[in-house]
Amino acid sequence: MELLIKNGAVFDPKNGIAGDKTDISIKDGKIVDKVSTKASVIDAGGRLVMPGGVDAHSHIAGAKVNVGRIMRPEDTRSGIKPRTKLTRPCTGYTVPNVYAMGYRYAQMGYTTVFEAAQAIMKARHTHEELEEIPIIDKGALTLFGSNWPTMDFVREKDMDKLAAYVAWGLLASRGFGVKVVNPGGGEMWGYGKNVSGLDDVVPNFDVTPRDIIISLMKVNEMLGLPHSLHLHCNNLGKPGNYRTTLATLELAKQVKPSKDRQVMHVTHIAFNAMGGTNWMDFESKADEIANFLNNSENITTDMGQVIFGSATSMTADGPWQYTLSKLVHGKWSNGDVELEDASGVVPVTYYRQAISHAAMWASGLELALLTKDPYKVLLTTDHPNGGPFVNYSEVIALLMSSKKRQEEIKTLPPVFNERTKLPGINRELDFNEIAIMTRAGSSKVLGLLETKGHLGAGADGDVAIYDIKPDQIDPSVEHVKIKSAFSSAAYTIKGGEVVVKDGQITATPMGRTFWVDASVPGEHTEVMMKDIRNKFKNYYSIGLANYMVQDAYLTHPKVVKAGVVPVEVS
Ligand SMILES: [Zn+2]
Repeated sequence: MELLIKNGAVFDPKNGIAGDKTDISIKDGKIVDKVSTKASVIDAGGRLVMPGGVDAHSHIAGAKVNVGRIMRPEDTRSGIKPRTKLTRPCTGYTVPNVYAMGYRYAQMGYTTVFEAAQAIMKARHTHEELEEIPIIDKGALTLFGSNWPTMDFVREKDMDKLAAYVAWGLLASRGFGVKVVNPGGGEMWGYGKNVSGLDDVVPNFDVTPRDIIISLMKVNEMLGLPHSLHLHCNNLGKPGNYRTTLATLELAKQVKPSKDRQVMHVTHIAFNAMGGTNWMDFESKADEIANFLNNSENITTDMGQVIFGSATSMTADGPWQYTLSKLVHGKWSNGDVELEDASGVVPVTYYRQAISHAAMWASGLELALLTKDPYKVLLTTDHPNGGPFVNYSEVIALLMSSKKRQEEIKTLPPVFNERTKLPGINRELDFNEIAIMTRAGSSKVLGLLETKGHLGAGADGDVAIYDIKPDQIDPSVEHVKIKSAFSSAAYTIKGGEVVVKDGQITATPMGRTFWVDASVPGEHTEVMMKDIRNKFKNYYSIGLANYMVQDAYLTHPKVVKAGVVPVEVS
């Protein structure tokens, strides 16, 4: 199978191509230097060509997504699209069904999406849903931050045992990386409490969030995992939390990266960039966070951009979800995952007239616009926490047009101007910077830049073509066209196959599921497993044998090798 994309205005930041007319050749699913004359040809006609979009943080599969669907019948009744000859039926807006997840991402030009949180114990459910999501490649990050074995091994300062546990946990969950949510807070929530900062001691375990974060960062690098620690900071959603965030970012200085990437990825940082002391004097402190990022290496973030309207908040930050449900006087579901964290789901609506919501909306944009290097801030909405992913085109338009931002600001309460720096920011991102925040940057953050997020030979044959001509459009003025083009790709090509044409699904191949097989010395696993077997005997409600995700769960696996013992990547 050969495909030639001619006459595209290509933006491929990794390979230094910024709008040049370049032909893209794809053979057997991979980008190659040249194809034969027999190749099918797509004439891009000067239109915008980028690598397929890569989302490093979204909630697309698993127990909490399903709880969101159950809690929101009204959401399920929106976005209904009946079955066609090619596609399965679609439902939902903030919590779409599995088919809509795949189709809608592909329709936006995205080809790779990572589920940002699965508990090991719930991983089977995650993979059952991932298996039903069509087209896109995917993977899932595994929660480790409040797990009992993690906290035991951190207290014992036994990094070998902790590394063995992380490697085993990734295997047991077929996970891709180490996710930490409000470290220590999940355990405290079992007592109706929370941690309030980096140095609170978690009862019964005698460890602090600081200890957990540093130890897991070290072990992440010991194992040479493709992705870094992926952190949802303590105190999320609380006025004044930017101080905790800055103190947390400082911790990255204590650990050296094992690879050319960050050691800490702080996710949906808009929710952790809050000043003030309560919801009345609440303000955005994104400028302070951006300033820190501008003066540090080894840390990346994603926006977690708020979108006005409906959202569904779902997170392993159990105590925060309770607080949120009280704030919005809304529905609340609470989850306890035995020895591994807690969770909650709360439907929310972001209102323009609520100054706290407006300031949060500003935070994400400020962060992206004040941080100089776009590799340090990825474009996300923390779907569906800040808003559904189908709104990425809105975020792109906002980032590219100061005029659009000013138009939006006019609809917000007058006090807005005192609570954020956004009205005074004139920076407008260009296509190259957008390609970094949605492709090259996210691939680099995930450790997949060799094959994802670029269009050089050897990369996956994943390409998006958008119906705008970069040399004929002024994104600053024509932001409506920008938004429309990025919401519906002219072509999405996945592994060399046209899966979307003119915004319509044309093929539904099955994507792969990435997971990391990290090797550790056998004796470390043996010692660690003694503890694990005891935990199962004494505390878990299920047996060890029923706990592991089996190979049968992943019909299209892509195994990435890592480990303490250097091994070759397959
Ligand atoms: Zn998230």
